[in-house]
Amino acid sequence: MSDVPVAGDFIADTVRADNAAQTYAGRVRTRFPPEPNGYLHIGHAKAITADFGIAEQFGGLCNLRLDDTNPDTEETEYVESILEDIRWLGYEPAQLLHASDYFQQLYDWAEDLIGQGLAYVDEQDAETISAQRGGYGKPGVESPYRDRPPQESLDLFRRMAAGEFPDNSLVLRAKIDMQSENMQLRDPVMYRIRHSTHHRTGDKWCVYPTYDWAHGQSDAIEGVTHSMCTLEFVEHRPLYDWYLEHLDLPYEKPKQLEFARLELTHTVTSKRRLKGLVDEGVVSGWDDPRMPTLRGLRRRGFPAESIRDFCTHIGVNKTNARHSVEELEAFVRTRLNKVALRRMAVLRPLKLVIENWPEGRVEWFEVANNPENADDGVRRVPFSGELYIERDDFAESPPPKFFRLSPGREVRLRGAYLVTATGLVKDDAGEVVEVRASYDPATRGGDAPDGRKVKSTMHWVSAGHAVDGTVALYDRLFSAEVPGAATGEPLDDLNPDSLELLAGCKLEPALAEPGPSRVVQFERLGYFARDPRQPMLFHRTVGLRDEWASLQKRQQ
Ligand code: ATP
Ligand code: MG
Repeated sequence: MSDVPVAGDFIADTVRADNAAQTYAGRVRTRFPPEPNGYLHIGHAKAITADFGIAEQFGGLCNLRLDDTNPDTEETEYVESILEDIRWLGYEPAQLLHASDYFQQLYDWAEDLIGQGLAYVDEQDAETISAQRGGYGKPGVESPYRDRPPQESLDLFRRMAAGEFPDNSLVLRAKIDMQSENMQLRDPVMYRIRHSTHHRTGDKWCVYPTYDWAHGQSDAIEGVTHSMCTLEFVEHRPLYDWYLEHLDLPYEKPKQLEFARLELTHTVTSKRRLKGLVDEGVVSGWDDPRMPTLRGLRRRGFPAESIRDFCTHIGVNKTNARHSVEELEAFVRTRLNKVALRRMAVLRPLKLVIENWPEGRVEWFEVANNPENADDGVRRVPFSGELYIERDDFAESPPPKFFRLSPGREVRLRGAYLVTATGLVKDDAGEVVEVRASYDPATRGGDAPDGRKVKSTMHWVSAGHAVDGTVALYDRLFSAEVPGAATGEPLDDLNPDSLELLAGCKLEPALAEPGPSRVVQFERLGYFARDPRQPMLFHRTVGLRDEWASLQKRQQ
């Protein structure tokens, strides 16, 4: 996967055509416009990759614009996290901008439309307006205020902005076409009254623009050329264009281009849903490693590069599709295989005592940090007569096809010696608490000089040198591929066993201190990321097995 295939890209084609026709005099300017009402998730990564990627590809600029037009849901906390997450993904906005900076210009333009007879103040309540809008094949009903003189609307609009009226008592609507087949054009609302304190403009405004009125105009103010959004806005494009066509713009009119939302199996990608998981305590926070937020994925150990590669691989397209989370994980595994240092860790320890080991002797093995990359060098791993192995790697009475350690069986301790189990110790409850073994001194390094073969190689940690750690194993947060598909409520498909915390894991001493790579491969077990705040807590990023590949094989 080193050559990431780029899917057919209709956006790049559009930009190329515009450049050839000199539509924007060769200028390419894009923006990523999140509403600061939550943390960014994997779906946003697709939009970010497209917005910043197109600018990069054509030598243009991409801004971060916070779409902060709704005073009730937005918080400064989110603004900072959004910028941080974009930078973590590997992009730097040309400018950090706020839609709220344009409130005055938007207001002036609204007065302009009123003056042209293209907008009016409506005194009906929201339900009435909504009922009059009609529906597909159902005619719209014109508001009795639709033809009021511009001067009257202007006066009311000014008084709305001056705070004379209570919340939701009046709205400003564009006067377009109540019989249009496009519902968006049936006299959409441009302004509503909200006596709320905005996180940046404070109490200066009590009329706030709707998304549609703010978005295209913000694009125009910033000189955006190609304004990308998701497919649900296709219907809004005629309105986007209508507003721009009736205003005196500082630049060439921007172009809205829509692509499919990214969704992943076994998770949800809607800020509202994710916020619900946090608020209900289903997860520990926005950065819980099971969350599809960029913070969660980062804490879990997903490299930013893998997320970018995945987004580039799926490309921008026009059909909504749910991608397999395994597909994303394949990119993570490919990357980590190259960069993660190898370490040994025993998650469920069982003592192994080598009876013929010389009393008190310790041998230090030099073991490659990463066989995939010689430049990563070696580390020293101690071996002694008392070790820990995985409880699962020993069976008193082995079932068929169990080739790991059992009484009388010889196995290889990775990179060290061949050992044979000779006996065991049980506690009062009859559980095996210790395995006794003998080693063959002639097999140092793990191979027998007489060429005899063993069927199993196991990882181990020297008991006297081990450091204790806690390991978090994760399963899918939702057991259904499409959470909520059956009942409409994703929470019904919550997987109750998505987290397994193992305390008292035994780790090789090289893991005592944070090393050069935060994500390491625990031999035979998978990739694990050290927690940024709790250094002896490791999160399993992904397993070693390429589940995606085997899934595809099964589908063939
Ligand atoms: P949510 O429903 O999660 O709140 P949103 O679309 O309201 O999503 P915004 O913060 O307003 O989220 O979106 C910022 C940008 O990211 C928009 O251009 C939006 O189209 C895009 N975006 C959001 N979710 C996805 C997704 N799942 N896939 C692709 N792009 C997305
Ligand atoms: Mg939104």
